[in-house]
Amino acid sequence: MGWDFSTEPEFQVKLDWVEKFCREEVEPLDLVFPYAVRSKDPKIKALVKGLQDQVKAQGLWALFLDEELGGPGLGQLKLGLINEILGRYGSAPQIFGSAAPDTGNMEMLAAYGTEEQKQRWLVPMLNQEMWSAYSMTEPQGGSDPNLFKTHAVRDGDEWIINGEKWFTSAGRVADILFVMCTNGMFVVPRNTPGVEIMPEPRSHNHIIYRDVRVPADHLLGPEDGAKVLAQRRLGGGRIHHAMRTIAQCKLAFDMMCERALSRESHGKIIAEHQMVQEKIADSYASIQMLRLFVLETAWKIDNSSTQETRTDIAAVKYTMAKVLREVSFNALHILGSLGTTNLTPIQAMYSAAPTMGIADGVDEVHKATVARNVLKSYRPHEGYWPTEYIPAKRAAAREKFEPMFVADPDLRTIADGYAKYIAART
Ligand SMILES: Cc1cc2nc3c(=O)[nH]c(=O)nc-3n(C[C@H](O)[C@H](O)[C@H](O)COP(=O)(O)OP(=O)(O)OC[C@H]3O[C@@H](n4cnc5c(N)ncnc54)[C@H](O)[C@@H]3O)c2cc1C
Repeated sequence: MGWDFSTEPEFQVKLDWVEKFCREEVEPLDLVFPYAVRSKDPKIKALVKGLQDQVKAQGLWALFLDEELGGPGLGQLKLGLINEILGRYGSAPQIFGSAAPDTGNMEMLAAYGTEEQKQRWLVPMLNQEMWSAYSMTEPQGGSDPNLFKTHAVRDGDEWIINGEKWFTSAGRVADILFVMCTNGMFVVPRNTPGVEIMPEPRSHNHIIYRDVRVPADHLLGPEDGAKVLAQRRLGGGRIHHAMRTIAQCKLAFDMMCERALSRESHGKIIAEHQMVQEKIADSYASIQMLRLFVLETAWKIDNSSTQETRTDIAAVKYTMAKVLREVSFNALHILGSLGTTNLTPIQAMYSAAPTMGIADGVDEVHKATVARNVLKSYRPHEGYWPTEYIPAKRAAAREKFEPMFVADPDLRTIADGYAKYIAART
């Protein structure tokens, strides 16, 4: 009977190390040197490297990559448990070499790159000597890839790319851009002539690709394979993301509970007011449900495949967004005026929560996928009534008893009595 929710003691030791390391080393770095990981200052770089070396010594660097792709091959469940810690600390994913969008791009390179492409891009990305961005969404529509127009045309030993992309996160500071074209996924160095980055938005960039020429070997994977590669970069990533979201929910929950015990109003501490208790109880249950759902989905991926688990991966995606919205709202509300300031993490968490329902695909699209997939295992009922229509089921059940009624007429009389009683109640 394999139904066990515990963590192996040896792995718990690793988790304890990650938790202590993040609390004692990563958080102080974040507070004093925000965005240190991207700094070009040699002194800051040395600080970051010192921490990253400790992560590497623990064998926890680039932990999202499977063993055959050059990572520790922890599997999604263990990865999920680690991400549940990392998600609480801003730069922890980078300190562990596991930050989006590089993770997904590295997964595509590891899975589809030639040996030469891996040496040229994957190795420096793994060492954080090179940063990347992912250019998929277009201004005319993000949710429907069939609306994308960016296209590459072969010209001798080169491809010429023309198109326009919207919301390429960190595109401005990336060394290379993974550009999804209608006929393939291309790697484009950012400084290639024709790559024009618009002034707005600042962080998620609007980029025009105007007659951008790249060598033929900058096509990643097969020609026309962009959609398959795009799926590859999202599957497992959503689970890591979900566990980091749980970390955020727990942070909000911890703040809510601590505050509820620390403030007084109308003669009692606010934790004793029932409407505050309701928020705490609802938040607790939502986090627990989400956590179990995410971990079970991770377990299913480990025991089958990303493809076979796609319905649950999609369901996790919009559920985590919903729980973050709820829990961060509850926490902000219980913190009162302080919650509305930027003096605690809660205001930023709450204001960022709606983006979770948009980034990586809007809720509606994932919900439609889930509903479509789930409905595949159902059939319409015949005739007017649903399968659970009680009079029909009761009549069928009586048929089952008919041989017993024939053998024992008293039993039929008793059954008739029940039938009369039921008819009188309806
Ligand atoms: C923080 C953040 C980071 C991002 N980073 C990147 C990145 O690095 N690279 C990149 O390429 N993109 C990125 N994106 C863009 C993201 O992929 C798109 O925002 C997303 O796919 C939705 O596209 P859209 O914004 O064009 O919204 P639209 O497609 O215009 O959708 C808007 C709304 O229309 C409704 N809608 C749309 N389709 C349906 C449907 N089928 N059924 C029902 N309702 C529907 C929904 O209410 C939806 O919210 C990022 C987005 C965010 C918020």
